[in-house]
Parts: sequence; structure tokens; C-alpha cells
Amino acid sequence: MKRLHNFNAGPAVLPVPVLERIREEMLCLPEAGMSVLEISHRSKTFESILTEAEHRLRRLLGVPDTHHILFLQGGASLQFSMLPLNFLPKSGVADYILTGSWSEKAADEARKVGTVKIAATTREENYGRIPQPHELQLDPQAAYVHFTSNNTIFGTQWQTEPETGNVPLVCDASSDFLSRPLDVSRYALIYAGAQKNAGPAGVTIVIIRDDWLSRIADGLPTMLDYRTHVTHRSLYNTPPVFAIYVVGLVLEYLEAQGGLAAVAAANAEKAGKLYAAIDSGGFYRGTAERNSRSLMNVCFRLPSPGLEAVFLKEASANGFEGLPGHRSVGGVRASLYNALPMASVAALVDFMRDFARCHG
Ligand code: PMP
Repeated sequence: MKRLHNFNAGPAVLPVPVLERIREEMLCLPEAGMSVLEISHRSKTFESILTEAEHRLRRLLGVPDTHHILFLQGGASLQFSMLPLNFLPKSGVADYILTGSWSEKAADEARKVGTVKIAATTREENYGRIPQPHELQLDPQAAYVHFTSNNTIFGTQWQTEPETGNVPLVCDASSDFLSRPLDVSRYALIYAGAQKNAGPAGVTIVIIRDDWLSRIADGLPTMLDYRTHVTHRSLYNTPPVFAIYVVGLVLEYLEAQGGLAAVAAANAEKAGKLYAAIDSGGFYRGTAERNSRSLMNVCFRLPSPGLEAVFLKEASANGFEGLPGHRSVGGVRASLYNALPMASVAALVDFMRDFARCHG
């Protein structure tokens, strides 16, 4: 039973100590007399799992008291719809910054509800970079500005959030959530599917500013109204118990690593090593502009599609999993989420060097 080098884009690698803890507690959670898969979501045991996960996240990310933390279902994709249903009035306008396929999908859902303005897009440049501040055409009357902090498919990442003045800022942080510190106070709403850095698939974390809730109009289906989940503390209906339990363990693990500053430093080191390998020798070519490069998803090409196919085949035979680029763009993508060990990056860099020597 050998664990592979897991470069999957999500669901993705989890910390081994977390997996071991799950195994240890699988038959019987301490004091519960049964496994986490069998407990009631109304039990004291789950109550404390949920409360603890929320408190840990609040501490780790520095979520202020002005913001609620929710654990929802439906993935980040449901947030594409829930956000405009709650906050985009029919006669209103929302600004969307397009930096890749996921922001396009988010904007498409908002268009079904109200008017969407594209505040900036780098589509014409194959989404190879994040727009510069001076390129943003923001509407001061917009209901909110939506952006995607890390573009999983194109391998680009915002270095800091866009400046939106008084217009509420909303972020799809799915693929870099918990990879670095974040100033939560700047956001009206942040959402992230857990299945990259935060845990397994099945739970979506939403952080929402309390005073924004008053803008929600009545009449939404109960499950789609953020206020339902705030009022019931994510327990309106049966939540994804197991996924929340694992998120709690991941948060505990991240705290033990020294918090998000330490995690960010480790991520910078891993990505730095891989980008240095891409940039040396001229065989590999990074697809993102340098100052837009993602520390989470490193996308690169080889001199020809034929060589890429050979590279991916040999990589797979050598224990590197998840390296093919997204099916819509091709190429190679190495996802370096928090739990990916530096040893996996080092092994990949060695493999790339040998491959370039043989085929360069
Ligand atoms: N946004 C981003 C940035 C993503 O990377 C993904 C999934 N890879 C999604 C949204 C969609 O997430 P989900 O599958 O949880 O709906």
C-alpha cells in the first residue's frame, strides 16, 4: 500500500495525520460509543464537533464577530446561484471580474437573476493573468463585486483582493482557501468548497457579514436563503456530518503547523521550487504571467502535445497522480495544496529534470 504523489486539483491530498486520526476514530469516536458516520446530527457529540470546527476556523483565519461561518452543501456551484438570488435585485447590477471558467460560471448564474456587468476580463489572453487595478471598471452602484481568488484551471491567483470602495466584495476562494492569511473584514461574503485545502468533498464553507443579511428580500426557498442557515447555525437540516468532522481535524492540524502564516510560507517554498524548475532550461513553459502565478495550481506546457502525452504517461507510471491539465485546456497542472509534502514536489522536479534531459 504505497501512497502516490497526489497532485489532484480537488478532491485532493489530505494530511496523513488527519487520515490516521480518522482511521483511529472510525469504529468509535471518543465517548460516543459509535462512529462519526452513525451519530445523530442533533447529538451532543456532533454539536461539539460543529462548534469546535467553527471556533477553530474563526481563530485560524481571524474571522471577526461581524461575520457568520456556515457549513453548507451543494458545492461552490450552488453558491454561484445562491449569491445572486439573495443579493442581486432584479433591477440591480452586479460586477463580475472574469479570470477563468469558474468566474464565467458564477456570472452565468447571476445573469439568470439580474444584470451582470463584466468589470474586467482577461479571456482574450487565455486567462493567463489577473487584471491590473487600473483595468477594473467598477460600478459604484453595484450590489456587489465578485471575483475568484485562485483560478484552478488556468493557474493564476490574485496577490491581494481588488479594491472596491463601499461596494460589497464577494470571493469564490475555493482553491486557495486556508492556503494563506486573509483579511476577512474586507469581505461581505467568502465561499469555498472544502475539497482542496479544507477537507473532503461534501461541505462548502461560507463566511458572511452579518449586516449584509438585512439586504435579503423575503420569498426565497428556505434552503436557498442564507438567513435560514445563520439562524439555525448550519443545522436547519442534516448537515454533511462526516465532512464537517474532517474539516475540524484539518483545522486542528493547520493550527498545529503554526497557523496560516506558516502554511503560506511552506506553500511559497513548494511553488517556488517547481516554478524554478519550469523556468530553467527552456524545455518547460509556464502558462501564467509571472506576477499572476498561482501557488496552488502550477500550469505548464512542454514543447509539443506529443511530448506532453509521453510526459504524463511516464509520470503516472512513476507514481505521480493528477498531473494532466484540466480537460478544457490540456497541458500539465500540478496542484500543490497545503497537504502536499515538499518531498512530492522535490520528486516531481527530479522527474522533470530527467525527462528534459532525455527529450530536450
Ligand atoms: N470555483 C472554483 C475556483 C473551483 O476550483 C471549483 C471546483 N474545482 C468550483 C468553483 C466548483 O466547485 P464545486 O465542484 O464544489 O461546485
